[in-house]
Amino acid sequence: MVEQIKVKKSKAADEEVVKDIIEEVPEIVDTWKPATNLGLKVKNGEITDIEDIFNQNLKILEVGVVDSLLPNLSEELLLIGQAKGKFGGGQRRIFRQTQKKTKEGNKIHFLTCAVVGNKNGYVGVATGKSKETVPARDKSKRRARLNLIRVRRGCGSWQCNCQEPHSIPFAVEGKCGSAKITLIPAPKGKGLCVEKECAKILEMAGVKDIWSKTSGQTKTKLNLVNALMDALKNLSQIKYRPEDLKKLGISEGKLKDRTGEEA
Ligand SMILES: [Zn+2]
Repeated sequence: MVEQIKVKKSKAADEEVVKDIIEEVPEIVDTWKPATNLGLKVKNGEITDIEDIFNQNLKILEVGVVDSLLPNLSEELLLIGQAKGKFGGGQRRIFRQTQKKTKEGNKIHFLTCAVVGNKNGYVGVATGKSKETVPARDKSKRRARLNLIRVRRGCGSWQCNCQEPHSIPFAVEGKCGSAKITLIPAPKGKGLCVEKECAKILEMAGVKDIWSKTSGQTKTKLNLVNALMDALKNLSQIKYRPEDLKKLGISEGKLKDRTGEEA
């Protein structure tokens, strides 16, 4: 019995140690040493909103900038590859596995595609490739943060006309390779009527209702995903008349900023 109690005590002690380690982690994040001008400004508190970076068209070169300005980013890996083998082969997987034939044997590479977003107007997609799975995943998540884009949202549906940014303000097209995608504004409550991987990205961007149309080889998921990102980038480049700003409920980035403009 005494031994058991001792064991329990030591376990409790271990848990405390684990807790200490977990509590120490945020301090490690705080010890980020910025290497660029933009990073220094963010660290010193000169830039407190990611909106400023996008308004000035600055390039984000450090992961720390995104992590400190948008702390609650959610991550997801897209199903861009497929399983090999006879039995149930062809099932969708997060890693695309490719091989190069050499004298020494087959050289395997893994490629994966990550999405990060705050579900409120900011989203980023990137791929990562490596000889092993874990570095490929980490690389894709890091690069997705650097590829962050601001999504223009609004309500361009004639059935809805609610002037709230739950959809997109107008129809837009994007393409990559033969894969083409057209995004069309949908009324409130419609949901995301798109291919599943594209729906994951739009959900991360904070778009709730959309209709879509695709053409070309949409089986090539990576091209379809790139086509969607192309469409989302085109969305921000199209010019609109000032009177349409309120009519279509156009909002760039976070929802909070739009209410600030109105007040
Ligand atoms: Zn609406």
